[in-house]
Amino acid sequence: EIAAEEGFEGEDLDLEAGAHVPLPVLAVVGRPNVGKSTLVNRIIGRREAVVEDRPGVTRDRVQYEATWNGRRFKLVDTGGWEIDVLGIDAMVAAQAELGIETADAVLFVVDATVGATDTDEALVKLIRRAGKPVVLCANKVDGQSTEAEAAYLWSLGLGEPYPVSALHGRGSGDLLDAVMAALPEAPPQTFGIPTGGPRRVALIGRPNTGKSSLLNKVAGEERVVVNELAGTTRDPVDEIIELGGKTWKFVDTAGIRRRVHLTAGADFYASLRTSAALEKAEVAVVLIDCSEPLAEQDTRIISMAVDAGRAVVIAYNKWDQLDEERRYYLEREIEQDLVQVQWAPRVNVSAKTGRHMEKLVPAIETALAGWETRVTTAKLNAFLGELVAAHPHPIRGGKQPRILFGTQAGTKPPRFVLFASGFLEAGYRRFVERRLREEFGFVGTPISISVRVRE
Ligand code: GDP
Ligand code: GDP
Repeated sequence: EIAAEEGFEGEDLDLEAGAHVPLPVLAVVGRPNVGKSTLVNRIIGRREAVVEDRPGVTRDRVQYEATWNGRRFKLVDTGGWEIDVLGIDAMVAAQAELGIETADAVLFVVDATVGATDTDEALVKLIRRAGKPVVLCANKVDGQSTEAEAAYLWSLGLGEPYPVSALHGRGSGDLLDAVMAALPEAPPQTFGIPTGGPRRVALIGRPNTGKSSLLNKVAGEERVVVNELAGTTRDPVDEIIELGGKTWKFVDTAGIRRRVHLTAGADFYASLRTSAALEKAEVAVVLIDCSEPLAEQDTRIISMAVDAGRAVVIAYNKWDQLDEERRYYLEREIEQDLVQVQWAPRVNVSAKTGRHMEKLVPAIETALAGWETRVTTAKLNAFLGELVAAHPHPIRGGKQPRILFGTQAGTKPPRFVLFASGFLEAGYRRFVERRLREEFGFVGTPISISVRVRE
């Protein structure tokens, strides 16, 4: 359809391909000071110091995108914040455990000049238990003379230790080759899921909003761990749940059920988990504790779901605790702070009493339907033609930019490309989005509109 239009040359409209394909995740795990950050910097090819001289300094940027031999992956540097009251071993273990859980493969870093310590041994147990592919990096092998030290690490039972100097780069190519061999092409959770299989739901929300309570409520007794089902995905962290007469896959429920009480780093891992769950899911059910004032973290989590391009349902939980006064303020908060997701279906539930649980599935289905909506080019352009005629773009600098033509480039979520004769102001773009929603629905889904200016 596009090709037939004159004057739109060189536009790549193949937005469907590659959009929202999650990258495989590599967790870099190891004791403090073994050189994880140095290695991460080396892999992402950045000289700027992420490494802090002061031990225990919280690093906020711990997730990076990297490329090796043309393959992209995500790198998560576990550890790097304050050792808190838990004590160093518990802290390192907890961080590693969470990191491993959210990863597709593990890069285990050991300081070869120190050799394997008890903490290293403990980490090996964690990695083994998780059953994820692992590559062993014997770091700080700065020269030939220290290579023998790396060989001692065979004793860890994780296979070949790759001697590396993160500091100087020595051996990092071989290490990365091994890492790429260990990483799946794409995360197994999302790759090759049969179409027509259970729809994937992420239950997200800040701590204590009632995620695990809700999960228990909907899962009932007949909980089946996906891992136990032959022929389904290998990932043991999801759950298949029968709800409203249908089968759903709730992703990353292991993270909801297993609570890790960390002070330092907890926020980071909560958000890492949220983004991991979102990557795997089609629709996000965002839980909000309606008995408390809406928090910044609530809106941030909603934004994460929107930015990830997922269908969104907002569930106001603990409705049983709502009194008249709180209810008044809640409605105000929703009006003011959640305008960005006015389009999201809303359910007022109680995981405790079971109130309105039956409304969850219809809301999810509505959101998924909006997410998959496709508008034909003919319909879209009829609509755009009327819109432009009735509400032309304001004249700017003597010129009046016009929308010439539009097409829906993709679904899940709906993405539109508009071709225009000039730059369209943000206000006008918002107006177009609002009118698109009024015309075609798109309940429960973010939509994106990109504008290409015709040369
Ligand atoms: P992390 O706590 O595991 O992230 O470790 P860092 O990356 O912060 O490194 C700890 C210390 O080890 C820093 O002083 C680094 O410069 C040093 N280091 C890291 N890699 C190497 C290496 O390959 N050789 C040597 N000699 N020192 C290294
Ligand atoms: P999570 O951290 O999001 O998994 O939250 P939890 O499910 O652990 O719930 C946190 C607390 O809120 C627990 O004490 C729950 O019993 C309580 N809770 C959860 N849902 C409800 C609800 O609908 N009503 C009331 N009153 N309490 C709830």
